[in-house]
Amino acid sequence: MSERVLRGVAAAAGAVVGPAFVYREGQPEVAAQPAGTPDEERARYEAARSRAEAELNQLAERADEQAREILTAHQLMLQDPELQNLVEEGIQAGQPAEAAVRAAVEQFAGMLEALDDEYLRERAADVRDVGRRLVAALTGRTVGIVLRQPAVVVARDLAPTDTIGIDRDLLLGIVTEQGGPTSHTSILARSWGIPAVVAAAGVLDAADDGMTVALDGDTGEVVLDPGAETRSRYEAAMARAREQAERDRAEASLPAETPDGVRVELATNAGSPAEVAFAMEKGAEGVGLLRSEFLFMGRESAPTEEEQYQAYAEALQNANGQRVIIRTLDIGGDKDVPYLGLPKEENPFLGVRALRLCFRRPELFRTQLRALLRASVHGRLAIMFPMVNGLADLRRAREALAEARRSLEAEGHRVADQYEVGIMVEIPSAALLADHLAPEVDFFSIGTNDLVQYTLAVDRGNPELAEMYQPYHPAVLRLIDRVVQAAHAAGKWVGVCGEMGGLPEGALLLLGLGVDELSMAPALLPRIRRLVRSTPAAEARALAQQCLTVGTPEEVLALVEPVVRRTV
Ligand code: PEP
Ligand code: MG
Repeated sequence: MSERVLRGVAAAAGAVVGPAFVYREGQPEVAAQPAGTPDEERARYEAARSRAEAELNQLAERADEQAREILTAHQLMLQDPELQNLVEEGIQAGQPAEAAVRAAVEQFAGMLEALDDEYLRERAADVRDVGRRLVAALTGRTVGIVLRQPAVVVARDLAPTDTIGIDRDLLLGIVTEQGGPTSHTSILARSWGIPAVVAAAGVLDAADDGMTVALDGDTGEVVLDPGAETRSRYEAAMARAREQAERDRAEASLPAETPDGVRVELATNAGSPAEVAFAMEKGAEGVGLLRSEFLFMGRESAPTEEEQYQAYAEALQNANGQRVIIRTLDIGGDKDVPYLGLPKEENPFLGVRALRLCFRRPELFRTQLRALLRASVHGRLAIMFPMVNGLADLRRAREALAEARRSLEAEGHRVADQYEVGIMVEIPSAALLADHLAPEVDFFSIGTNDLVQYTLAVDRGNPELAEMYQPYHPAVLRLIDRVVQAAHAAGKWVGVCGEMGGLPEGALLLLGLGVDELSMAPALLPRIRRLVRSTPAAEARALAQQCLTVGTPEEVLALVEPVVRRTV
């Protein structure tokens, strides 16, 4: 048979060729008439909800930060009062629980699909995923894909939790007939480095289990039963990628030092103690940001001091003596935690978020600070306060930390003598006042994700404004420059833990502005390490100085891009 070429949408980079695992999931038949009274159906539904919740918790145990966010969203959907009401109405009207769940989920998903916003439309898949898990629990089945050998998964669409549940060591690539590049499956494939093509019309009918499939996640090409020439083209691309990965591994322990001898610390962002261990294997020199929110989300009450202590201690132990910067709670903004009962706000990003929430809930803050200080004896801890907008915030947070220390010592707990205390610089007022803040901290870590949104007044999560969200805006660069100058004048070090530090253009500019540490997702380390090792700091400095003089992000990029192309 001759090869068949299909075109889809490129969703995650990389090329791969391998045997197909075709996932044809049908909807299970469900009874039209209820087996019991509405009360009995309600009880079955509640039991299914608990089972679904337990399954999601189990998946979360081995999930990374990206996957955990999705699972948390699913946990929240399981508790969504509107969805509950719709199911309740169906059961009350005499439907079996399965049919009530299906109808409720379809109504909910239909509402999302009718919206203009592509990102929200894609969330309909998440609602259906939750519904499918509930129906499976009601009918005594489990959902998921079990691979027994390395394979390219071919499916109509992959529910996010299907993707999370696949054994990553056996997953070669993903081709789906539906889905878009912003679906959670695409986002996950990108963060795992698994090539993926979505919206490949006709692939499900044309593919069979075991058939050879080649896919190119950069161009969207999918070839079924590839001929010898196509096969060798793909095999050559895979060999090149393997060689690059090999080089990356070999270089993982090389210092990130420029040819003219400037050393930059390369750290990673982490969302759990397990991710700290993973990052160390990938050659990270420490953890530049551990978001402590992971402990507070997807559950029904706040973690106890003991629970937090155990988690922080584990993170420190997993870092093998390297520094771990643990950020205190940054809830609010776009991150809600239902059991905290946060008020609905008109402008949550400008509202009761992070430290502001902690100051209003002193017990919550105190518990976290005590847990952190108790963990300090297990490694090299740095404590970081988010969303500081000036000296009052910083002093109040430091006083709470000092008070937590006094209470622990009075109770006879051991606390390390040495630990660093720093702040995130992510509000423009803090950047402008960096000279006043620097003497009172050990370090700054610039949170460019928020600094960009607050400087440019562009909501970081609003896809309508995505083009206006510009980390390379000269206004942002001028603020960063000011922060670095102020820190160095006071003898303090500066890191960057926002996304900008993991992008080659961003890293190059930050190197030129004199940043001492860059923290990013582990997968980004090799490329940034190569960039630092191949760019003289003097050249990066000259480039950054030039960028500080121009007036638009376009001019900045026009200066930076040619240098990036030449170096990595
Ligand atoms: C930032 O704002 O750049 C940051 C790293 O924090 P978060 O993305 O958690 O707000
Ligand atoms: Mg932030």
